[in-house]
Amino acid sequence: MLGTQLVSAYNMIPGERFSYSSETKTIQYIPESIETPLGRLALLHEIAHARLGHFSYIYDVELFTMELEAWEETKRLALEYSVEADIEHIENCIESYDKWLTRRATCPKCSTYGHQRNYDLFSCFICDTYWKVNHRKDREIRRMVIKNQ
Ligand SMILES: [Zn+2]
Ligand SMILES: [Zn+2]
Repeated sequence: MLGTQLVSAYNMIPGERFSYSSETKTIQYIPESIETPLGRLALLHEIAHARLGHFSYIYDVELFTMELEAWEETKRLALEYSVEADIEHIENCIESYDKWLTRRATCPKCSTYGHQRNYDLFSCFICDTYWKVNHRKDREIRRMVIKNQ
């Protein structure tokens, strides 16, 4: 099976989600998913991160750039491994990242697109509000105002 073949070619561990750790150079995958087209695509996506040598990042824009690169590489890998590249699914993934990043960066006070100062800190150059965001891996976005004039 294609899935099994891919799994044996990389340093992979079964888990509850698809992810790649640049620290341990390990790909986590959902065993029962990799026999479905979307599961295989998700696995190829993590392999793409691994092959591109992606690392941890500080700024959201770095994350977004790496996601775009990884999806390009995923499309190439999909051709190589004859996995169906569901373009609509890929576009939805990219769009959801885009929306998520926009929401994090939007000033809670005046809705201006803010400036990222640090991995979890943003500021607004219009109203001088500072806010912290929760960890990226959480689905829900929380913005907490820490300084407001
Ligand atoms: Zn990714
Ligand atoms: Zn503002």
